[in-house]
Amino acid sequence: MNYDYDLFVIGGGSGGVRAARMAAITGARVGLAEEYRFGGTCVIRGCVPKKLLVYGSAFPHEFEDAKAYGWTLDGVSFDWPTLRDNVQNEVSRLSGIYINLLDGAGVEHVHSRAILEDANTVRLVSEGRNVTARTILVATGGWPYAPHIAGHEHILTSNEIFTLETLPESIAIVGGGYIAIEFAFILAGLGVDVTVIYRRNKLLRGFDEDLRDHVGAAAKIAGIKTLFERTIARIEMEGDGRKILTFGEGGELRVDQVMYATGRRPLTTNLGLEKTGVELGGAGEIVVDEFSRSSVPSIYAVGDVTNRVSLTPVAIDEAMCFVDTVFKDNPRPVDHGYIPTAVFSQPEIGTVGMTEEQARAEYGEIDIYKSTFRPMKQTLSLRDEKMLMKLIVDTASGRMLGCHLMGPDAAEMAQLLAIPMRMGATKGDFDATMALHPTAAEELVTMRQKWVPPAD
Ligand code: FAD
Repeated sequence: MNYDYDLFVIGGGSGGVRAARMAAITGARVGLAEEYRFGGTCVIRGCVPKKLLVYGSAFPHEFEDAKAYGWTLDGVSFDWPTLRDNVQNEVSRLSGIYINLLDGAGVEHVHSRAILEDANTVRLVSEGRNVTARTILVATGGWPYAPHIAGHEHILTSNEIFTLETLPESIAIVGGGYIAIEFAFILAGLGVDVTVIYRRNKLLRGFDEDLRDHVGAAAKIAGIKTLFERTIARIEMEGDGRKILTFGEGGELRVDQVMYATGRRPLTTNLGLEKTGVELGGAGEIVVDEFSRSSVPSIYAVGDVTNRVSLTPVAIDEAMCFVDTVFKDNPRPVDHGYIPTAVFSQPEIGTVGMTEEQARAEYGEIDIYKSTFRPMKQTLSLRDEKMLMKLIVDTASGRMLGCHLMGPDAAEMAQLLAIPMRMGATKGDFDATMALHPTAAEELVTMRQKWVPPAD
């Protein structure tokens, strides 16, 4: 059978673009369709613009510290349109780079929605034509999920927050995961009155309990209000555009805007998957094997659409493994172990490996090392910011099972810690490593005292 392409990729985000480029470099004939903007969630409305907003919102902390270092800052003011437009210009520049990378690799790309017609045929909806491919890769990512309550049309999600016309004076952020927390700190830093509403009793479910406590304390210091164990029954809009949130448990809250950050779902609806027989999981994700192959042999899927670990580097690595497996005759399963993760709260979180709870469940006897201290930079300003460092060690082997950090540069440290941890480093290896002074990270190799839980 003669196909138009060796590979056709649906979705021009982190996973799709990487797979298309790398496959084309091997000499394969590759096509790719993107319905919105090249670069996908990470570049257009995720990691990149978010981190730039984090930088933008952190200046007030710097200004506060600066005073203790002798600086006088007169007439400091903030202009949202300047930050928003500069971020959007950078997003457009990066999106252009993605298109150049595809061109450079010889990928034929088309700006169109694409849906599956059968196991080897893709319909390019905007162009009204079909193309065929020996292999199809679905890399359509995910989409914000919000429960369909009354007044649903009044909410924002992370999709809209980056391009707001004006910054609200007050906002309710619904959710307690990393996106909710990052935007709570960003908006609070920019002067918005933020209330986080969460149906559980603590932020950041799934993270180590000490980190969860620490981020809760940091939110308080940042002036972020939290309402736990609350659900929203309905949202109404007043004549002046303000929103009234009515809680299921009783009571109301009036705010200028409401942002839902209540999770993301794989984007598999109206994609024609039912015509191919591809198996979907409970969250609507494409079920794949360790080589990212779906239940239909010619169809693969990588990235958020598979609902494995929804992070950019993971989507990229899954794409690389896919290309090695299908186009380089080098079957390579994806290794989802020891993925370093950050939450860009302020201060930020960096974490690798197991939580204390997971380690106890899997290893039984573990040792904990914990340290909290004021980062050196704040010793002059006395700004209320604490660094947390926590190491979790398997008592029997000494192997490092988890590292959980919160404080300046914690994400940078987590990236580097992931290397020795993946290699099986022990606490002894950490102890034998010379400290680099004066840094915060030196604490990681100088903690000697096991943490003992306080007696009841
Ligand atoms: P995407 O990047 O979402 O790409 C999918 C592409 O497919 C999109 O461009 C979409 O328009 C296109 N598409 C969908 N359907 C079709 C169709 N039928 N036809 C044609 N095109 C289609 N990850 C991190 O690692 N670090 C972070 O700090 C981080 N921060 C984030 C912050 C936010 C607010 C969000 C929302 C996400 C963040 N992520 C972060 C997650 C990260 O963005 C995703 O894991 C990553 O983008 C997934 O890549 P992907 O290729 O699977 O999908």
